[in-house]
Amino acid sequence: MPTVPPPWKRPALLPGDRFDAVVVGAGFAGLYMLHRLRRSGFNARLLEAGGGVGGTWYWNRYPGARCDIESMQYSYQFSEELQQEWVWTERYAAQPEILSYIEHVAERFDLKRDIQFDTRVEAASFDEATNEWVVKTDAGQSIRARFFIMGVGCLSSAITPQFKGYEDFAGPIYHTGHWPYEKVDFSGKRVGIIGTGASAVQSIPLIAEEASHLYVFQRTANYVVPAQNRKLPPDEVAALKADYKGFRARAKQRPAAFLFPFHTDSALAVSDAERRARFEQQWLVGGLPFLGAFGDLLTNVEANKTVTAFWHDKIREVVKDAKTADLLTPKGDVFGCKRLCGGTNYYEAYNRANVALIDVSKSGIERFTPTGIRAEGHDYALDAIVCATGFDAMTGSITRIAITGLGGVTIQQKWRDGPSTYLGLTVSGFPNMFNMSGPGGPSVLATMVTCAEQHGDWIAGCMSWMREHGKTRIDPRPDVEQAWGEEVAAAASKSLRATCNSWYVGSNVAGKARVFMPYIGGYPRYVEFCDAAAEGGYQGFTVG
Ligand code: NAP
Repeated sequence: MPTVPPPWKRPALLPGDRFDAVVVGAGFAGLYMLHRLRRSGFNARLLEAGGGVGGTWYWNRYPGARCDIESMQYSYQFSEELQQEWVWTERYAAQPEILSYIEHVAERFDLKRDIQFDTRVEAASFDEATNEWVVKTDAGQSIRARFFIMGVGCLSSAITPQFKGYEDFAGPIYHTGHWPYEKVDFSGKRVGIIGTGASAVQSIPLIAEEASHLYVFQRTANYVVPAQNRKLPPDEVAALKADYKGFRARAKQRPAAFLFPFHTDSALAVSDAERRARFEQQWLVGGLPFLGAFGDLLTNVEANKTVTAFWHDKIREVVKDAKTADLLTPKGDVFGCKRLCGGTNYYEAYNRANVALIDVSKSGIERFTPTGIRAEGHDYALDAIVCATGFDAMTGSITRIAITGLGGVTIQQKWRDGPSTYLGLTVSGFPNMFNMSGPGGPSVLATMVTCAEQHGDWIAGCMSWMREHGKTRIDPRPDVEQAWGEEVAAAASKSLRATCNSWYVGSNVAGKARVFMPYIGGYPRYVEFCDAAAEGGYQGFTVG
């Protein structure tokens, strides 16, 4: 886990402290929320488990960590000065650059004076007598606030599977989502990495360059498209900044609030040669925009299948060993059902003499031993193990807080059969509580920073309206919450994304209810729903 020496004076919580709002999490969402609340004249305190700002970008320091949304879109737009002055150097920013940016924002808007770091929120309960939340921290502090706002992230509750013999392994074990602050030196070491999701895809080529030997333990092959990352030329940046506002406005009209070349025609309406040419063209665009090759890749199974053969050929063009190429080829999975991975030299890494792909799809990882990993009947001698095993996505960081709403009902009880929300932002029976980027919102399917600003504005707008009307409690009605759940499910039913095992549906966590959690109806439609809910005077809510 990263630890950072505290370079600033932290505001301490005092017993009996009362705030208009307690915000949890100093990532993109929480920081914007704090700024927005201040602008609206509310006093707020932000509590953060880490030793610094950044959220995802504070914890995920693994080699190669990089965003899969373009830097000039994966950044705040609330301040024209900020977006004009900050200069992104690469098409896809690496973790250190994103963290520097977030640090810059925190300094520029003087946010740290209201943030208490190294403080994990353990419990929050709604006091029905005063209409306040009582928030408890791991330091034994207890504070009160009218509103409880979570910006805890969708991919921040890391999972390390319960591998047999875990404690026996003599060397260090890392998780990509909790990477140490200090550089980890793998030179001359035999390293094993478990997983081939986005985090592994980014770190494998870099660990391979350093380690004496890298064993990649793969259960399921993933679709990896070259990110085609590059330096951003100053003239390209200047051209975009000349109309940054217009560019952002156009992005917000797109389903993912993200501009990229997108074709709307069907993959089945063109000849084989034309289709191949289009795939080649989008391959060169790289990254997530590959999904824009045709309009129906994620909605029509037959259209989706046309990608598979292309992918097989691409892997075989790069990976020299036929058996490894075959193992790296996804089998039977719907393309893009799991989140598409953007890689740099990923397939190429398997041509290195010091990299071995170990197929654990049949009987899995048997156990950790004092000297390594036993899998599929073989022992692999290792000096270090990296778990790139993912997250309890979307709900994990919320349900690990003991949240209690009306009548003593906990969030774990409420969400036993899957998360239910109104607009992703509110939960019936948990008055005055807001979730940013949580389940039921566009969340991971839209540009997170854009969503964070939209959520922050909506929440601050709601709080301001309550202040103006002398109200102290707002709670979404069960019927509107149910109707929203139906809208979320109806949108999911139109997409192939909901049809496979993935963290989108919670299948990577044992015992978790299987529900497609994000709202896939598109950012513009989502914003219309949110605006309508507010403009009608919050009629879908019980207000008191
Ligand atoms: P992930 O996609 O959930 O991948 C976890 C990997 O661990 C999978 O390959 C999984 O195999 C494997 N695994 C889990 N338990 C295992 C076990 N017991 N034995 C063997 N293998 C096991 O997690 P992630 O790579 O951290 O990525 C999560 C999400 O974070 C991404 O989808 C993306 O949205 C985000 N992310 C984004 C970026 C970026 O912006 N470029 C980078 C990193 C992460 P199975 O598939 O068989 O379950």
